[in-house]
Amino acid sequence: MSIRACFACKERKEKEDLLNFKLISKDFLREGEISLPETFLNIFKDVSNILFLDLYSKLPGKGINICPKKECIKAALKKIYKGKNIDVNSFINYLLETIEKELITNLVRAKKASLIDIGLDNIDYKDKDAFIIVSQKASLKAQEKLKNFYKNLLVLDEEDLSSFVGLENKNIKYLLIKNTPLGKKIFRLLKLYKSLKNAI
Ligand SMILES: [Zn+2]
Repeated sequence: MSIRACFACKERKEKEDLLNFKLISKDFLREGEISLPETFLNIFKDVSNILFLDLYSKLPGKGINICPKKECIKAALKKIYKGKNIDVNSFINYLLETIEKELITNLVRAKKASLIDIGLDNIDYKDKDAFIIVSQKASLKAQEKLKNFYKNLLVLDEEDLSSFVGLENKNIKYLLIKNTPLGKKIFRLLKLYKSLKNAI
């Protein structure tokens, strides 16, 4: 397990519970390594370095880790871009879009690999190591009962849950994802997504 401090509040957390960024120069981007949408580049139009979300820490350079919370993101932007005005909400929206895309890609992969059970009915108690994502509509009593069985539980907005698995019109009660590296990755992305969504 690797522990990192949030760049803003200095709280120490597991690296995977933090948003991992790299500060990269626009020149590096111009060289064609990474292409970013215009809307994102506009957020950073007055500065020479971009705070780039490097979810899996693949890019070189010193990492900047930040809690997925508005106050920490805001404080970090202020600290990095002294005196410049970076729109926090636009930035958070971009982060959400990026994570959402990642989630959908990985959920499709997990579905193809039969790692996911989509629950439309009563919840099956099967594998306690699995990751369970429960709809917000589930009663607190039901959530409590599940928490006692599953170690890794996340409560998510029902609409988000449905759209992530591509079933917009169905009432999904829960998702059960097998505890594999891919499942772990998806669970992490969902936790970051939820936390960021609460930030706006
Ligand atoms: Zn923080």
